[in-house]
Amino acid sequence: MTTVLSWDPRGWLCQPIMVEHLALVEKERAMTQKKVLVLGGNFGGLTAALAVRHELHGDVEVRVVSASDHFLFNPSLIWLPFGKRRAVDITFPLAPTFEVHGVDFVHGEATRLDLAAKKVTTSAGDYDYDYLVIATGYRNDFDVVPGLGPSGNAYTITTLEDAIHAGEGWRRFLEAPGDIVVGATQGAGCFGAAYEYLFNVSHQLRKAGLKKRVKLSFVSPEPFLGHFGIGGLPHGESLLGMFLKKEKITAFVDVGIERVEPGRVVLGDDRTVEFSYAMLVPPFLGQEVVRAATDIADAKGYVKVRDTYQSEAYDDVYAVGVAAAVPVPWQTSTPLGIPKTGFPTERMAHVAARNIAAQIRGEAPHAHEEFGDMPAVCVMDAGNNGVIILADKMLPPRSHGVLIPGPEAHAMKLAFEKYFLWKARHGYVTLP
Ligand SMILES: Cc1cc2nc3c(=O)[nH]c(=O)nc-3n(C[C@H](O)[C@H](O)[C@H](O)COP(=O)(O)OP(=O)(O)OC[C@H]3O[C@@H](n4cnc5c(N)ncnc54)[C@H](O)[C@@H]3O)c2cc1C
Repeated sequence: MTTVLSWDPRGWLCQPIMVEHLALVEKERAMTQKKVLVLGGNFGGLTAALAVRHELHGDVEVRVVSASDHFLFNPSLIWLPFGKRRAVDITFPLAPTFEVHGVDFVHGEATRLDLAAKKVTTSAGDYDYDYLVIATGYRNDFDVVPGLGPSGNAYTITTLEDAIHAGEGWRRFLEAPGDIVVGATQGAGCFGAAYEYLFNVSHQLRKAGLKKRVKLSFVSPEPFLGHFGIGGLPHGESLLGMFLKKEKITAFVDVGIERVEPGRVVLGDDRTVEFSYAMLVPPFLGQEVVRAATDIADAKGYVKVRDTYQSEAYDDVYAVGVAAAVPVPWQTSTPLGIPKTGFPTERMAHVAARNIAAQIRGEAPHAHEEFGDMPAVCVMDAGNNGVIILADKMLPPRSHGVLIPGPEAHAMKLAFEKYFLWKARHGYVTLP
């Protein structure tokens, strides 16, 4: 039998302890540890996985299965097409981060959820769980407008591949400039990205000496400028109107897109806007694997959740971030989505982590926060300028909301990017 000398916990003498005994204790602990399986490793998945470990002081087995083996800081995709960022600047590998924090990382794609049997089939094997967190985010819905998509007539920037492609198009545009259309289609919710890209394009045109030659147009389903899919904020419409006027941008709002032809956007009201370069943000859908789990998902493939971020149907299945369904609280003449941004995604992940920890401790889930009640905290970049957006609640009715324009917003976005990537890479998810 192997023995080692170990410091006696009571203080002052060394005692032989049996290694086999220690191994047995460790094995028993592992056997009784609850298993948390997290699908997706970006804003929602990374935060939920590390926050559960933190809540339970490591006494839980956490595994993350993610289709991407890298974290992607999506907010910086607006800069990638102009060469201001490369993929390597806004991504980092997930495995080392999870390893440091004792989380098992599997690079694979979930292909089937068997929620009754508490089992997930993935491209890397089958995994069972006691608690499941779905954080699989979004995919583009290009079917909403003919002529969109990778082989279509307009670029988008909502995934890394899309943004790289949009950058190739931008470099071709610079060699043969013409007019530009930027905007969002009906059903889109990621309006911040559309506005940021619009103002960054305007800034880049000025830098390239093309501002006077290029007619820049903005197309949006929002009922008014600065609605952002969150109902607008005080003075938002006039501020955005002023920005557009200053930048000599023509706006087409409260309108859908019928189709995108080569060099021409045809609007829902038959007006047309010509372009040499177009970037349009499409609506998002949940992942197909989630949509197929019809007992938890809505028609778009988002998980119907309670304010605890438990699914409506299963107490042990959670969904956070874009994967969680958030009902759109208004009816607009042109349909809009809702922006499920990074800040609420992290909040949802922390709520879910607290509740899973409570359930593991034998308590009832006690943390809850409606999406609409979370604060709105956002920075809209405009190239060398921007707007800081702050409100006490994401959705109205609100007590206060404010838009602060100025170059400090651009500086803040640059600083936030660096800070967030540092925080996420090190797994410091309890920091603000
Ligand atoms: C261009 C752009 C700009 C943005 N700007 C801002 C901003 O300025 N501020 C802000 O707060 N938010 C911004 N957002 C929104 C922000 O990116 C999202 O809120 C955030 O990405 C949501 O995180 P998530 O983890 O829910 O989903 P995602 O980021 O979509 O991550 C989903 C993860 O799940 C993985 N996955 C997908 N399918 C599967 C599967 N079947 N099995 C396993 N894993 C799977 C993916 O590989 C990915 O790692 C922006 C978004 C875009 C597109």
